[in-house]
This record gives sequence, structure tokens and C-alpha cells, in this order.
Amino acid sequence: MARVHNFSAGPAALPERVLRECADELLDFRGTGMSVLEMSHRSAAYQAVIDDAEATLRRLLGLDDDWAVLFLQGGATLEFAGVPLNLMRSGTAGYVVSGHFAEKAAQEGAKYGDARVLASSADERFSRIPDLGPVNEACAAGGLDYLHICQNNTIFGTMYHELPRTGDVPLVADVSSCFLGLPIDVARYGAIYAGAQKNAGPAGVTVVLVRRALVAAGPLDVCPTYLDWRLEAAKGSMYNTPNTFGIYLCGKVFRWVEEQGGLAEMERRNREKASLLYSTIDESKLFHGTAQPESRSICNVTFTTGDPALDKRFVSEAADQGLVGLGGHRLVGGMRASIYNAVRLESVEALAGLMRSFERFL
Ligand SMILES: *Cc1c(COP(=O)(O)O)cnc(C)c1O
Repeated sequence: MARVHNFSAGPAALPERVLRECADELLDFRGTGMSVLEMSHRSAAYQAVIDDAEATLRRLLGLDDDWAVLFLQGGATLEFAGVPLNLMRSGTAGYVVSGHFAEKAAQEGAKYGDARVLASSADERFSRIPDLGPVNEACAAGGLDYLHICQNNTIFGTMYHELPRTGDVPLVADVSSCFLGLPIDVARYGAIYAGAQKNAGPAGVTVVLVRRALVAAGPLDVCPTYLDWRLEAAKGSMYNTPNTFGIYLCGKVFRWVEEQGGLAEMERRNREKASLLYSTIDESKLFHGTAQPESRSICNVTFTTGDPALDKRFVSEAADQGLVGLGGHRLVGGMRASIYNAVRLESVEALAGLMRSFERFL
């Protein structure tokens, strides 16, 4: 069976070894005589699975017990509400609008209080991370419950190469598409969250990391019980039935990342893959990158020929050759290569080769 070169933005490629392990264990998980899919989330066997996932993630990120680690459902999208419902205690927060998801987060925040857009790159079609000067000033002035950023803009192919300086204002980041793709300096953040299906596992698991001190006072009164981070921390992510199989699979991906050398090694590989694609784009007369160079993402690489019909032809020729998932997001068109941890250099070399031959024979 031939596996394709999978450049999908999410759900996305998973390490083949992880999938094989899941297959091997599917009918009989470690001598229990049942599948993880069939097991009570309250069983000792399952508790060991979630404990191991959490412990591995804590080692990867260097999270001590000041941090709660939650495995929730509802995607990053539900946490766009979870953030204000847990943290907007005085009713005002700052948002940086650097793309589609950042904007959705701000819109959701505005349902619960004053979600102030402190910077936006909407007028530059989100081709870069906005200038953070006004953001840093607003944080220094105080009065914000948190500052929210979307650290890697999956659709537009941009990422922060420098974080805002938030001082005493807790930094809250949606890291869905760069989670585990590079080290995170957790000391800079108050809360970090990610939908797992980009880089860390299957759809249906959202990882929320939050400083216990930030949620000590509890959420807003209107917060749905399920979204109460303090409660979920106290219940070990089991206030209700969690996504048991998804968490099991995430745990395997965390182990895989650790065995491959951890987050520094993931970053090295992702930079190598990204620089191969960006140099191919920069040397090309046909393709051009859509993100401004100083904001380029190492997780999602966006490019276009400028001609929608030609873009379509490229995507379809690529698919014919086993390179799939290269169509840009429906909002922006063009091409997008998502080069997450499980996408091997060999796949990116195949893509770069195809780009060169497509241009040559046009
Ligand atoms: C995919 C994505 C989302 C949305 O995730 P869901 O799991 O579909 O809710 C939010 N933010 C970022 C940065 C994403 O890449």
C-alpha cells in the first residue's frame, strides 16, 4: 500500500509508526482483551493512558505543576469562547488580529466583554504579523485581563518570530498549527491552546495549558460547566467522557516527538523543510509566496502563480503524482503546503522537484 505525500492543513499527516502501533493494539490493548475504544474512561488501564500522555507532554514543554494540562473537545473554536469565559474577569482583553482564526477569537471574545483589537493586518490581507508596537504599549498601560494572539496563521502562512511584550498581562495563544513544531518558552505565557489535528494527533482533542493561578478565582458565572478550566483541571479532564481514543493517539504522537529528539529537533526539521520550499519559491519566476518574508511560517507555506486556473492545474498535477492536500484554503486560493512534524523531508523534496518541473515544462 502506497502512502501519499500528505500536505493537508488538518486533519493532517500522522507519523506512520504511530498509526501502526494503533493498528497493532486496536483489538486487544495491552492484554486487556478489549480495544481502547471500548474501555471505560474511569478504568485503571485508561487512567494510565491519559497520565502517560500528560506526563510526556509536560516533559516536552517543560511544564511544572504551576500549569494545568487539559485534554478537551470542541476544537480550538470552542476555546475562542473558553478563553474569555475563564479569563475575562474584569471585562476587557486585547486581541491581535493576524488572520481568520485570530479574528474569530476576537469576535467570540466580544460576546463576553470588551475585546479590543489592538493591531490587525486585515488591510494587508493578513500577509504578515501586524506591527506589535501599539500592542506592547497597550499591555504596558495595563487594564487588560489578557492579550490573545494566534501564533501561527494556518490559512495565510504567517507566524510570530517574536512575541509581544505583554509585561504583567497574561499572554494567551492559539498555537493549533505550530504546537509541538518548535519549542515554546512557556514562561512567556498565561495560557496556550491547540486543536490537536494539525500537528499533535487526531481531530476531536484540544489541548489547553493554563497556569493554575490564572484560573484560581474560577470562570465567569455564565461559563458552561464543560468549559470551566479550573473544574476540568480538578477533574483531570474527566468532568465528562473525554475523547478517549484521541487522547491515546495524542500520547503516542507525544512519545514519537520525544523519541525523535524533542521540540528542538522538530524545529530543526521544520526549518529545513520550510527553507527548501521558500528557496524554491524565491528562485522561481512562476511561483511567488503570499506571506511577507519576515512573517513566513515554518509550518504552513503559502504560494501562488497568480493565475487561479494555473494554480488549479498545479494542484491537480501534484495530486496525480501522489502529492495531496496542496490546495489553498477556500478563503484565499492558491497553494498551501502544510509541512507538519509528520511530513518528511522526502515529501517536501518531491514537492520542490514538482514545482521546478512544472515551471520548466509550462
Ligand atoms: C485549525 C485551526 C483552528 C480551528 O480549529 P478547530 O479544531 O477546527 O476548531 C483554530 N486556530 C488555528 C490556528 C487553526 O489552525
